[in-house]
Amino acid sequence: MTQGRAFVGGCLCGRLRYEARDPIEAGYCHCRLCQRSSGAPVLAWAGFPIAGFSFTKGEPESYQSSPRGRRDFCASCGTQIAFRDTATPTRIDVNIASLDDPASIEPEYHIWVGSCVPWLHIDDDLPRYMDEGPDPPTS
Ligand SMILES: [Zn+2]
Ligand SMILES: [Zn+2]
Repeated sequence: MTQGRAFVGGCLCGRLRYEARDPIEAGYCHCRLCQRSSGAPVLAWAGFPIAGFSFTKGEPESYQSSPRGRRDFCASCGTQIAFRDTATPTRIDVNIASLDDPASIEPEYHIWVGSCVPWLHIDDDLPRYMDEGPDPPTS
C-alpha cells in the first residue's frame, strides 16, 4: 500500500466526502452490528490512522452502536462511512465499499465469523477469526 496516497470516497447521495491516508490493514467483519447497521451480510473495513482522516464535504451523523463503538453515516442517504472504537482512539475504520475505488484496498482476513450467515459461501484462503482478530490498535 502506497505511503501518503489519498484514498477518497463518499456516500451514495454525495453530501459526504472523505479522505484517508496510509491504510493500516483491512478485513471483512461478519458481526451482527455490522449486519444490522448496513443491512448487508458482511462489511469490508479498512483501518486508517485517524490523524490522516477527514470529511472534506459535509458532516456525518453518528450512532453509538455499542459501548465502545460509534458509526458515522449520512443523514440524507444512510450510507455508513466509518467506525470509531474508543479502545483505539487513534484509528478509524472506513467502509471499503464507500471508496471511489473499492478495488484499491483488499481485505486480508475475516472476523466474527461465528455470525457469518450460513448461505454466504466464502471461497478464499484468508485467516478467519471467531473474535475481533488482529485488528491492531494504532500506537
Ligand atoms: Zn448521502
Ligand atoms: Zn462488525
